[in-house]
Amino acid sequence: MSDNILEVHDLRKTYHKKGGGDFEAVRGISFDVPCGEVFGFLGPNGAGKSTTISMLTTQLEATGGQILLDGRSVTDDPVGARAEIGVVAQHNNLDCGLTARENLIFHARYFGMSRRDANAKADEHLGKFGLADRQNDYVRSYSGGMAQHLKIARAMMHTPKILFLDEPTTGLDPNYREILWREMLNLNREAGTTIFLTTHYMEEPERLARHMVIVNHGQIVAKGTSPELKALVPTSTIVTMRLSRQDEEIVRTQEATARERRVTRQAFLAMVQRDLLIQARDIWEFVFRVAMLPFILILTYGFVLPTLGVLPESFPSQMFAGMVGMSMLITGIHGTAVPLTMDFNNLHEIEDRLLAPVSSTVVALAKMLVGIIESFVGGLIVLPISLLFMGSRINVTMGLGDVPALIGILVLISLASATLGLLVGTIIRPTQIVAMFPGFLMPVVFLGAIFFS
Ligand code: ADP
Ligand code: MG
Repeated sequence: MSDNILEVHDLRKTYHKKGGGDFEAVRGISFDVPCGEVFGFLGPNGAGKSTTISMLTTQLEATGGQILLDGRSVTDDPVGARAEIGVVAQHNNLDCGLTARENLIFHARYFGMSRRDANAKADEHLGKFGLADRQNDYVRSYSGGMAQHLKIARAMMHTPKILFLDEPTTGLDPNYREILWREMLNLNREAGTTIFLTTHYMEEPERLARHMVIVNHGQIVAKGTSPELKALVPTSTIVTMRLSRQDEEIVRTQEATARERRVTRQAFLAMVQRDLLIQARDIWEFVFRVAMLPFILILTYGFVLPTLGVLPESFPSQMFAGMVGMSMLITGIHGTAVPLTMDFNNLHEIEDRLLAPVSSTVVALAKMLVGIIESFVGGLIVLPISLLFMGSRINVTMGLGDVPALIGILVLISLASATLGLLVGTIIRPTQIVAMFPGFLMPVVFLGAIFFS
């Protein structure tokens, strides 16, 4: 097997600018990262370091070139690659609705770790980084240095083979820096984790890294001076190792499939649990969001206007189903779309889930299931409110026999709304979503209510 954990060949990235024109951020870089080393990836701001890390860690599609992680193509098997890597992004992408400890535990669960292992590792890392006494605080109350430590602790939770750190010490005071280096070197020594470090400080990799590459304007301008290890390995050894690697591969595939399935199931459940936990913490916001629109609809059309004689007495009966249906639809769309668009555009919270060793479809399906649950619960809240206000005016007779049909309808509406929400959440920007609700959805609600009825 090769001595390199990472082999990058002719990697390129071209960004397509909005107003037209292309920008080549990474222009055909090639380098190898030896197994178990601290590797320095240096360059000034704008050199293409973060862009390169995003491609190496499956977060960004390369325009060209090849990335081999542990001998396997990252583009061919992104899920397999994500299982081996830990990523500490340059920006804060912690899950703000969760406590520090929960950030670590959920991360471990997304990676298929057992609850027991997750708890033990969380204790260990919280202790090492001096966060134990603040572990139950929400991370939004964390200082920059503490957040940075937590991000690193989180990326170490699943003991990755290679840990990518994007300018981890920028803006940190010396005290935090010391702890960070100590823990990183410990991980490197004890677990053999390869450290891929980007920085624009010259002295850091000089002190820590054995090999390094310097980039500027998307190109490599200098490589580490140590002679290439590959050139020293005799050809015969390479051949034998390639053969034994194939046998290994077959065993790996069978075991891996079973493992991947278990991880996928667990990660999916953890993602749903995470969303429901966040929602449960903000239960009044949820009730308000679900009940407000139907309440206004019901009050106006089911109570005030018929009482004033502006609308016929039969109107509430006609509109009843529509109001319930449309309220649920809006709750479902809102519940799926708003968190998604916020996640993707502002908070970066979803990045931790997108880095889990599962297909991104799993992340989307988890979001959808939460939307369905929310919409369904919304229906359960709206129904009694409607009956309470319009009760005397509605001439809907329902027996026990209708309950399965009612539940069936509620489920179908929930499903439709979550699907729409997913679509809306992935194509719309936060500024647009604010305008979308009054400008687009309200008229749709009224038309839709008539349709449902
Ligand atoms: P570094 O991390 O080395 O500071 P980056 O990889 O963040 O550099 O950026 C490299 C270049 O690509 C910069 O000129 C930056 O402005 C540009 N760039 C980064 N992201 C995007 C994007 N999403 N769209 C267009 N240009 C981008
Ligand atoms: Mg950067």
